[in-house]
Parts: sequence; structure tokens; C-alpha cells
Amino acid sequence: MPHHDPRGNRPGLALLLTTLLLLPVAASQALANPKAAPQVALQVVLDIEESLIRASAQIEPAAGDAADHFLFDLSSDLTVIMAYVTEEGRRPDLTQQAVHVPLPHHQDVQRYKLRIPAGIEEPLVVIVYEGTLADDVEAGEIEGQVHNFSVQAHISERGVFLSDNSYWAPNPVDAHGSHPLCDYEVTVHGEAGWVFVATGDPIRETDEGDLGPCDHWRTPRPTDGVALAGNRLGTLSGVSDSGVEIVVHTSEGNARLAPMFLGAVKEYLALYEPLIGPYPYRRFTIMENFFSSGFAYPGFTLMDGRVLGMGPRALMPGLLDHEMLHAWWGNGVYVSPEDGNWCEAITSHHANMSRYGLQGEEERSQDYRRGNLMKLAADPALDAADGPALDRFGRDPACDRYVGYDKGALVFHMIRQALGDEAYWAGVKRFAADYLGKHATWDDLATSLDPEDEHGIATLVEQFVRRPGAPALAATRFVAGEDGLVLDIDAGHGDWSFDLPVRLHLKDGGHRDVTIEYPEQHTIAGDPATVTHLEIDPTFDVYRLMPANQVLPTINNTLAEGLHFVVGEERPEAADQFIARYPEATHSPQPVSDRNLFILGETAAGAVSKALALASNPVAVGDGWFEVDGKRYDKPTQAMLHSFRHPDESGRYATLFVSNGEVGWQKLRLVTHYRRDTTIVWEDGEVITRLVHEPDRRVPLGFAKSPEKPSYD
Ligand SMILES: [Zn+2]
Repeated sequence: MPHHDPRGNRPGLALLLTTLLLLPVAASQALANPKAAPQVALQVVLDIEESLIRASAQIEPAAGDAADHFLFDLSSDLTVIMAYVTEEGRRPDLTQQAVHVPLPHHQDVQRYKLRIPAGIEEPLVVIVYEGTLADDVEAGEIEGQVHNFSVQAHISERGVFLSDNSYWAPNPVDAHGSHPLCDYEVTVHGEAGWVFVATGDPIRETDEGDLGPCDHWRTPRPTDGVALAGNRLGTLSGVSDSGVEIVVHTSEGNARLAPMFLGAVKEYLALYEPLIGPYPYRRFTIMENFFSSGFAYPGFTLMDGRVLGMGPRALMPGLLDHEMLHAWWGNGVYVSPEDGNWCEAITSHHANMSRYGLQGEEERSQDYRRGNLMKLAADPALDAADGPALDRFGRDPACDRYVGYDKGALVFHMIRQALGDEAYWAGVKRFAADYLGKHATWDDLATSLDPEDEHGIATLVEQFVRRPGAPALAATRFVAGEDGLVLDIDAGHGDWSFDLPVRLHLKDGGHRDVTIEYPEQHTIAGDPATVTHLEIDPTFDVYRLMPANQVLPTINNTLAEGLHFVVGEERPEAADQFIARYPEATHSPQPVSDRNLFILGETAAGAVSKALALASNPVAVGDGWFEVDGKRYDKPTQAMLHSFRHPDESGRYATLFVSNGEVGWQKLRLVTHYRRDTTIVWEDGEVITRLVHEPDRRVPLGFAKSPEKPSYD
């Protein structure tokens, strides 16, 4: 360990050493007994101009931990100035030193060991440390990506961000070599004019009704880390109907939007608390962040200023609601290190997928589910039958985000369908109540949701969480039989068993929905004379791999694999920048076969005009105009993104981007955000038309798969 003079001339150090002398009493009063979890009390002095942190940690190890030593991990960017183990009323031995323990494969973290002197029954570990924390913000800002994950610890005039897994605070190590959940208390000594927020609840020494910024925070129950953020921001506060404090810290530029966000949080709490139980912290803070993020911590979220600046669009499902729900899932109930990450799945189900439905707009939730299935259809490798299963998400980097979030959300939807709404939400509430402040596995979830195993939830988890891949569910036969309608379905691979909704389309124009037990049931009761078609899973309730002929064309399909840009020699810089994002792709002024085509601009469109016209959703493009869905757009501020199945190339897709004038090209860098639509038209930068080209997914009565007729399109 490099030598440091602990009494050198360092601003803040005197303050720390003074608070240290006062703290042992304060800490043991403040923190709960008995100590099931380690108690960590932090005094943090920030020198923002110098990107410096100086801090002291006082840790009471959990009862039952090793009696002769204490292990902790700390960021390699930080230096221990002083560390000793003492107990109340005992004179500390300041000559004690923390020794390094080799920690293979970890460059960013150092492990330290402190001897616990003989005779100490209730050890109090004191660690004083300092260092510069200045992760490069720009390096992690990647065009088209929502989160900058490479910033973990940063202190500067731009802002303070110390993430809960950056080891900016000493992290106790238990007898198994893991990091246990801990109770944390943080006191920040920042700078005038700055507001801070840390993991947990605000602690106010005096005024109970104070909804303002706070420098002192404590977790109401053990958490799996401690985060701290701060900046020069304004404050708007309110209280939900249920009594939760809501605080919004924004920059001056976004201050006018703060009331909208505050109102949205009130609305979300009113929607979700009756379903999943009381919000698990006293306060929910939204803090504007100084880099790309939508990060959730216990009691607060850090949202990119540019996302907040989107105004009402920042309130679409999956943004603020998602971050708030992590207060329960992931920051209230913790993902067990023994199992995969279930918290993104349940959070995405409750927010991204289902919020509109819970607010009475089920059709929009249905569209979202369809979108999830389309993503898989566009790129089945996202969840291959020999790839990692959902229970590997968060543990195996090969497990795609799609599996963790999108498949996961649909799996929860299937669970909810199997249980029915009442039992589902009662089970979710039970799960939160039983596991807040604890780790939970997928099996814990299944047991909370279906305690008597009456609804087959454990079986669903077995098939869709523990096993990779999706059933294909293609109808191979739909014919009139003696006792009704005979239906055969091929799942493609594996053994599957679940309730499958199907829709019978009737001659009178109506329909009848039935649920069959797949794969046992082959006959559906009904009079064949009244039925024209069958549709499998008409409202997208089952996680499955859609047949290619049922896919709606989007940019996802085009970008999936084997991309070729059709682009003229003369082209705007925006086109070059976009092409540069796909180093694997080829490009030329003419189309090539057996590739997905990305057609950029009017000249390129001319080279594929036949395919544009012959597609099942045709468009036409000319000099300064384009035509789609029978409508002509000829204003210079209009631009279009349009995807279609290639009419001559089986299994291939194409996407066209055209702009009538120069200004529309600015939209090209954002096109990957429109993954659920077939066609988008912009005018003056705003979306004015949004189309989804729905293929016919009905199977005609009398269909039987044969070598000549392998599918029904
Ligand atoms: Zn999330």
C-alpha cells in the first residue's frame, strides 16, 4: 500500500476525522439491531473541482461473520488512508493496516483484509479512504444507444455519479466470498448550490414536512449497494395520494417539464400500488443526469436530460414507469446471485408491455406483444433452441437483452393469463411483501404466484425460463372431422405443453375464441359448415416463433442479417454516417441478390423501383415526392422510412429511407428507434404517419400441409 500521511494538508479530512470521533454512537443508535445484515455508515466529502472523494466508512459486520478478520472490496482508484477495527468505548489502534488479498480477474477492484484484534466482541470497522473518480463520459456515449454503461464513477463540475457497483464505498465480503445485502447510511458534504440523492430514504433531523433536497440518507432495509448522485439542479416536490414524497430535480432548461413528471409519478403510483403493494421507499426522486441513462436505484432514478427534454414522449410506457417499478423489482426484491435476472422481465411486463392495458387501452398492449414476437421472427437467433435460456440472463453475456426483457415480459404475460388477473396481482403482491430486502429466484416467484401449483406456473417456468428457444406453432392441418374441426400444429422443436388460444372465423363475419390444450387436443367442437378460417393466438398471448409469412415487415427484419446498402454515388453526409454504423454491410448503387436491402435516397429507390411497386405494401418515389398507402407527400420537409418483404427474394426484406429535401435526412440517424412500424412519415421533424402492414394470419378450413403446399400463404 502506498504510504500516505493521514494528517497531511487535505481539505475535508479534518471534517472527516472530527465526524469519525462523533459517529460510533450516532451510528449504533441509527442503525437497526440485531444486525442480520452489515451496517455501513458513510461520511462523504466531495471536492468536485478536483474530482476527489474523501470518505470514511464505519461498518458493523453482520452477526455470525468471521470472528478474526473482516474482508472488504474497494475501487482500485481509491486509496485507504486509515483502517482499523475497534469497538465502542475502546481506544482505536491507529497502527493497524488493511492488507491486500489477491483478487484474480478484477482490475478495477481491490480486496482488503483487516484483522479483528482479540477480545473484540462487537467489532466496528473504520475505513478512511480517498481518490479521484473521473470515468470518461464521452467514451461511453454511443449513437443510438440509450445507456452509457461505461461511466461508473464520476465527480466533476458536470455532475456527480457514483454507481452502486463501482466500489466507491467499501463493500463487505461474506464468508462465501459474496457481497451481502447491507444497510447503508450516507451523509454527503458536497458544495453549496448542489443537490444530492443517495440510496434509501431521506433522513431529516428537524422539519418532518420537508420535501426539499437532503444530504443524509438511510436504507429502510438491506440493499445490494449504495449509489450517490448530485448536480446543480432545481427542485420540485409533491406527495402522492398514498403519502409517497415525489421530488423532481431538473436543470433550468427542463424545469417547465417538472410538474408533468411529478404528475406522472402520482398517476403511476395510483395505478401500481393497489396492484403490487405500497411503494417500498419514503421518497421517489427523479434526478436529471448529465449523460445517457435511465438508471434506477433504491428510491431514485437518474434520467438523461435529453430524455426528460422529450416532454410527453418521455412518458411512454417503458421509461419513467419502468424505472419507478424497479423500486420493487431489483431495488426492493433483489435478484438472487444463484439464479438469472428476473427483474427486467417482470418490470418490462408491468410497465413497457402492460401499462396501457392496465389503463384501459388493451389494444396498445396487444400491439406491444405483437412487436416482441416480430423482433424474434426477424431474428430467431435472439433466442435459439441451443442458446442460453432466460434463466441465464444477467449471468451469461451471450443471453441477449431480447430474452431478458422482451421474452421475459411475454413469459410474465403468459403467467398472468394462466392465473387470471386477480390471482396474478395477489401473487405479485405476496411476492413483494415476502421478499422485500431479500434475494429471490425464479422458483421463489413461481411459488409466490402459484403456491399450491394449481395453475401450472412451475411448468411454464420450466419451459420458457429454464429452457431456451420458442415453439413455432405452425398449423399443418385444419380440416373438418367427424366430431368437429381437426387441428394439427407443429411446434418445430422440443416438447411443449400450455394453453393455446385460437380464433375460429365464421361465415357470418363474426368469430369465436377458444382455448385448446396444446399439444394433447386436436379437435375443436364446432360445425365445420359455419367456419371459414382458423387463427392461432390472435391476440399475441403466447411466446412463439412466428412463421415468416406472418411477419410484418420492419427495419428489424432488414437489419437482422446480411445487409446491403443501395445508395447513389452522390449522397448526403448523413447517409455515410449511417452506413458507417454497419461495418459488416456492403454497399453499391445497384441492388444485389440474397441480401436484405437498405435503400437510401431517391436515386437508389429508382434502382429498385420494380420491387417497391410489387411489394405487398407498395410505394412510389419521385423527385421531391413519395407516395404510400394511396397518399402523396411532396413537401420539402417530409421524409419516410418504409419496410417491406422483398417480392422476389424469399425470406429477404428491404427498407427504404427517402427525404424530399435536405432537412429530412436528419431523421436517418434515428430510424433504428422505429422498430415496431412498417412505415413512418415525418414532417418538420415530427411523425405524421405511422403504418403497420398486417399480413393475413388466417388458415383456411381444408388446409393440409403437403410438399406442394408447405405453408398457407
Ligand atoms: Zn430495467
